[in-house]
Amino acid sequence: MKSNDYFGTTIDCPCGKRHVIAPDELIYSDDAVEQLPVAGRRAVGDKPLRACVLMDIRTQPVAADAVAAALEADGWEARRVVIPDPAPGRGVVCDATARDYILGRSEGTELFVPVGSGVLSDLAKWTARTHPARIVTFPTAASMNGYSSANIAPTIGGVKSLVYGDPVDAVLASPRILAEAPYEMTAAGLGDVLAKSVSSADWYLNHLLFGDYYCPRAVELIAEIEPLYLDNPQGVRDRKPQVLAGLFDALLLTGVAMTMAGTSAPASGGEHLISHALDMLSGLEDTEHDLHGRQVGVGTILTAELYRRVLAVESPALPEPKPRVDSAVWGPLTDVVAEKYAEKLPRLHQVRKHLRKGDAWDRLRAQLAGVFPPNPEAIHNCLALAAAATKARDIGCDRDRLVWALLNANEIRSRFTILDLGYLTGVLPSSADQIVRKWS
Ligand SMILES: [Zn+2]
Ligand SMILES: [Zn+2]
Repeated sequence: MKSNDYFGTTIDCPCGKRHVIAPDELIYSDDAVEQLPVAGRRAVGDKPLRACVLMDIRTQPVAADAVAAALEADGWEARRVVIPDPAPGRGVVCDATARDYILGRSEGTELFVPVGSGVLSDLAKWTARTHPARIVTFPTAASMNGYSSANIAPTIGGVKSLVYGDPVDAVLASPRILAEAPYEMTAAGLGDVLAKSVSSADWYLNHLLFGDYYCPRAVELIAEIEPLYLDNPQGVRDRKPQVLAGLFDALLLTGVAMTMAGTSAPASGGEHLISHALDMLSGLEDTEHDLHGRQVGVGTILTAELYRRVLAVESPALPEPKPRVDSAVWGPLTDVVAEKYAEKLPRLHQVRKHLRKGDAWDRLRAQLAGVFPPNPEAIHNCLALAAAATKARDIGCDRDRLVWALLNANEIRSRFTILDLGYLTGVLPSSADQIVRKWS
């Protein structure tokens, strides 16, 4: 696995930064469960061998009980913490209730071992901010890119938020368990990794417009392994071991890219905001939403299409940015969203002012088009051939709901993305409906 070339290394990068790459190790092997106690010992050093194995009712029989038993056989005190579903049939969410549940059961723990997908992994990182402990993570699905990163996506006060913790010490995964995960989860992982074409363009956009830090090496990290799944999406669908290994490796390296950047920017742009906005809408309505990566895949197609339309604009409209968010849209979430939007507003004015000058727009277009042209057809075809979600109805939405997300997602985070440039150029709001219709 390519990840092992980077894990535990330090890179003096041409970007000017010294990147210290965590986690320290990846063990990708069918005997990962058996190898976990030793990795745990390396992580805790000479501390007492006390671990909390975090699981839910789905991952308990799949791997978590076996992980706890392996730790016990190695002399650990291994507490099994089964995080309850918030309601019957609803999966665990990364929120304060679940974190407090863990905190109440982790006294004296030196090691968290989350066994599951992104929510469990995030809960371990988030809990460790309050209860410092090492983390060895055991993913049960190749479903998202956060296993190896320091960023955490908890829901705080109903808003999908971004918090930074410490990266985990080691990642241990069994190819057999990953291949047996429910297929939607693997398809979600593909959606999350494909987001890169849009998210790295958005990151570069911030570099061009605001001089924000940008590391080309972080962006190119997965270039070598991308063809494994991009050229063979059917292999993802058929769970071919080599293709799944490539996908999982790419997800981990995307996490590394975020650690190198010190932000989630290389892997999370406008396409992620669409998914987060859908999550928030579901929260407002108290309904279920689809998996993160499945929504992200759909968001990536829409934002790639938006990129194309924005770059085709000859003379941008540059309307005055909306002064504040609309309480009719956000209801009880208005205040928290308003705060994020207010943080972004100065940048919207700055870009508007900049693009009114001379040939600034043509230069920006040329710079973006020359480096990262996200291609909606290629992204769509890859997801479709892999039997992943591509359309509104695949993720339990109707078109109007997706149009809503495309139109409002820019307000929920302070990060500038193609969604904001969509408004400034005048492509949004007018083309939102067309963009969604074209792809749904
Ligand atoms: Zn760098
Ligand atoms: Zn993601």
